[in-house]
Amino acid sequence: MSEYNPMAVAQSQFNMAAEILDLDEAMREFLRWPMREFSMRLPVRMDDGSVEVFQGFRVQFNDARGPTKGGIRFHPTETLDTIRALGMWMTWKCAVMDLPLGGAKGGVICNPKAMSARELEALCRAYIREVASIIGPGRDVPAPDVYTTPQMMAWMMDEYAKISGWSHLGVITGKPLSVGGSQGRGDATARGGWYTVREAARELSIDLSEATVAVQGYGNAGSYAATLGRQLFGCKVVAVSDTGGAIINEDGLDPQAVLRHKTETGSVAGFPEAEAIANGELLELDVDVLWPAALENAIDKDNAERIRAKIVAEAANGPTSLEADEILYRNGIHVIPDLLCNAGGVTVSYFEMVQNACLEQWSAECVYERLDAKMTRAYHSVLQLAKREDIDMRTAACMVAIQRVAQAVRVRGWI
Ligand code: NAD
Repeated sequence: MSEYNPMAVAQSQFNMAAEILDLDEAMREFLRWPMREFSMRLPVRMDDGSVEVFQGFRVQFNDARGPTKGGIRFHPTETLDTIRALGMWMTWKCAVMDLPLGGAKGGVICNPKAMSARELEALCRAYIREVASIIGPGRDVPAPDVYTTPQMMAWMMDEYAKISGWSHLGVITGKPLSVGGSQGRGDATARGGWYTVREAARELSIDLSEATVAVQGYGNAGSYAATLGRQLFGCKVVAVSDTGGAIINEDGLDPQAVLRHKTETGSVAGFPEAEAIANGELLELDVDVLWPAALENAIDKDNAERIRAKIVAEAANGPTSLEADEILYRNGIHVIPDLLCNAGGVTVSYFEMVQNACLEQWSAECVYERLDAKMTRAYHSVLQLAKREDIDMRTAACMVAIQRVAQAVRVRGWI
């Protein structure tokens, strides 16, 4: 097992919140582990005529509040423990957003970058054949995640339709618009995050039109965080980074121009109207809003004391270690935890399920308005608890979520 075990982190966070909530032992035993786990072997004929056998997983962590929801990851270093942890976080994320959904996660150990489109389609269809009897619009609804795409969701939905004999659009979310996808899904994570940052800025009396922003990671979440920061609130995006390097311009970068540069060259590094800085330096800049939008553990005990941002908006999952959390809290930095900050993606996925169930198509404006209402309400329910109990925002978010799941478990009469 690797040194960083996300399941151990997820369970520690759970234990901390369960202790403050004074949950009884049976409830803790129940909520600490997934309700159901499936693992499957997936034989796929490759382009060279050979057959490769892949290992797949689906973990339905908890369905007390409704059908389980969670992405499917295609990754060479996927592990069951990672899927379990992400399933647990999905459960809390849906609950903190007050969506009528439980949490799940799936994955396949594979290297999609080394596979052809035909091989990927065959793998997607093989995965669905194995999970068809345990997923469904009222049961468990997958979505895209690391290295899985809207096109793959379309193949998966199509395979499910062939098996069941019905065109159930709502069996999977994150689909292309032409097969029941939702408007607003592409930038939902960053947009939802910005709605919570707007509320935090009000709380801290920060004028966003004068605010400076740094973004670590310039992929889907990070590039939209930079673009929307400028577009929606007039923020000055001063620094961004990716695996190729970090860049800074104190007068403000043009996020769209940086994105074009990245598309052409493969990295934000070398963008002409900026200077290079070390990747680690970006995290320690004196900015109003810092977006960790890359990988887990970006802020740890070694750099936490040097973080100077007023607001840390966690677009990435698990970017702050447990030790760093304590340091940031002690230093008065307002962390909007991943559970809440990046929940815009699953919220618009939920909107996609609702549209599919009613055969409706909402406009982008309608999606943004409803997303704003949900994110704003969730932010304030967490902030209120954090203030009342004098605790950090992450523990408060976990408590709001766990309390809601535990309540559903009790009402159903399970415990
Ligand atoms: P992505 O692969 O599109 O982008 C990741 C970016 O991070 C890339 O630009 C990569 O170069 C950069 N990166 C990686 N390591 C880095 C480092 N050490 N320093 C600087 N940059 C680095 O992924 P994404 O979809 O944007 O997801 C990013 C994070 O946000 C992940 O933790 C993911 O789980 C989380 N998230 C994403 C979504 C979404 O809708 N995309 C939703 C919820 C959570």
